[in-house]
Amino acid sequence: MNYDAVIIGAGLGGLATATRLASSGYKVLVVEKSDKVGGKLNVQKESGYSFDTGPSLLTMPGIIEELFLETGAEIPSYLEFKKLTILTRYFFPDGFSLDVDSDPVEFKNEVTNKIDSKFKNESTQLGKFLKHTERIYNLTEKIFLNSSLGELNTYTNISALKTFLRIFQLDGLRSMKTAINSFFKSPYLRMIFMRYATYNGSNPYKAPATLNLIAHVENTLGGFYPVNGMYSIAEAIESLAQEKGVEFMFNTSVSEIVTSKGQRGGVEVSGVRVEDANGLGKSKTSVINSKVVVSNADVNYTYQRLLPNDTKLKGRSIYKKLEPSSSVVVFLWGVRGVHQKLDIHNILFTADYENEFKEIFSEGGVNTDPTIYINISSKYRPQDAPKNCENWFVLVNSSCDNGENWDEKVAEIRGQVIKKINKQLKIDINAKIVYEDTITPARIESETSSWKGALYGISSNTKLSAFLRQNNRSREIRGLYFASGSSHPGGGIPLVLKAGKITAALIAKYNPLTKPHSLQK
Ligand code: FAD
Repeated sequence: MNYDAVIIGAGLGGLATATRLASSGYKVLVVEKSDKVGGKLNVQKESGYSFDTGPSLLTMPGIIEELFLETGAEIPSYLEFKKLTILTRYFFPDGFSLDVDSDPVEFKNEVTNKIDSKFKNESTQLGKFLKHTERIYNLTEKIFLNSSLGELNTYTNISALKTFLRIFQLDGLRSMKTAINSFFKSPYLRMIFMRYATYNGSNPYKAPATLNLIAHVENTLGGFYPVNGMYSIAEAIESLAQEKGVEFMFNTSVSEIVTSKGQRGGVEVSGVRVEDANGLGKSKTSVINSKVVVSNADVNYTYQRLLPNDTKLKGRSIYKKLEPSSSVVVFLWGVRGVHQKLDIHNILFTADYENEFKEIFSEGGVNTDPTIYINISSKYRPQDAPKNCENWFVLVNSSCDNGENWDEKVAEIRGQVIKKINKQLKIDINAKIVYEDTITPARIESETSSWKGALYGISSNTKLSAFLRQNNRSREIRGLYFASGSSHPGGGIPLVLKAGKITAALIAKYNPLTKPHSLQK
């Protein structure tokens, strides 16, 4: 079998790359080890409940629409996005609670009404902080979001020069925490904004303040939900890919990226070796030929497991040493009753945020007092739970998998979570759970091949982390590309779709088609 490009994985980054390539005339095959598309963005249906097992909050839906528009397709009517009214309902250990509105003006009003009396001028400071984060976002957008950091021309165009002239405005020399504390006095706003470090699996006490741009994305641009559920995003992009002619091979695992000596020296990809992902036909492996291979799988996993051991690769030793991002433990609870106290997205904060991050980033770290995120999609999609019931997705951040006994650790975390919900929300949740399942870092690794179950590849806990992320084009193996949440520009739905866009453009430049697929016969 010969293809112009083979994509390993049908996560969103893989789907976006495949769709864009096919729409430019490439003959594309996506090899996916599971039986469906979506990767981390997935859904689990059980006992009348439907749970999103990955993302629950959508930001920048325009980037999804961009994929349709730029490939000349119509956005399907079922892919409808609505702006949230309340972005997140926050509960603090001292009993204080705050609804953060998706509209920044309403958010400011809420701060004026509820915080300014205790901490003077916090609402004015909020306006200043959001302006500051907007500036960072505008400066970084072109370079980080729309280009590869590994290409020389990224740094030689006018907008790059403008960014570098104002590099100090990126606020990359201090930590998120230091910058946030310089704007706010109240522990409430400090914690709300520091929490955004977890959106790329990092520690706000260490991660560069440039990441405060996430506040602009969420608090100024807003949070959204797809009317037909998060998984409708994956389904819509899968349909688009099929419409463009992408072929899919499900239940099939890539066991090796096959390389050969290039005509111009160096090493180049020549295809992938595949096998039955369920192990039934393990002895029968076969090779699919292609001069372009895109790994949508985790970068470290790609280096350690898929690239031939006899090839010396800098990436293999680099990514083995770098600190992985955090992971999560998630409880999927089918719950009896409807809880008015809670909204769609809810956070119950820890009493000691700094200690929580110390625990998350220590090997085998325990979560003594975790911050708890509760998402209830049945609040906007009643069909996600039986009548008078709710589907609770209860997440705590955790260290990645360092070989812990997850049964023991999950039992411990479950006890703490239940205790905290009882105490802070006065809900006897244990008595109301009628269905239960758990997602651990080990499960995330086994289902999506994320190294140690880390959600976003390497952490962003150093000043240079953005530059340490894997480039979308390999400089060591010709024809090898990376488009996933662990490569540039990073994790989260909008960023992996951007990885697909950047990667497809690089392939068009470095592995151009001699003849479009439609003219090849
Ligand atoms: P992945 O989703 O990692 O998929 C990779 C695919 O490759 C998988 O389908 C896997 O089966 C396949 N694969 C791997 N190895 C092989 C192989 N050898 N052969 C064949 N196939 C292979 N983002 C948000 O924007 N908002 C959120 O609210 C949010 N919450 C999250 C909550 C959780 C619990 C998790 C886990 C993630 C969350 N994210 C969120 C992050 C977001 O889900 C990811 O960044 C994004 O979906 C990753 O996409 P990806 O393209 O990297 O591919």
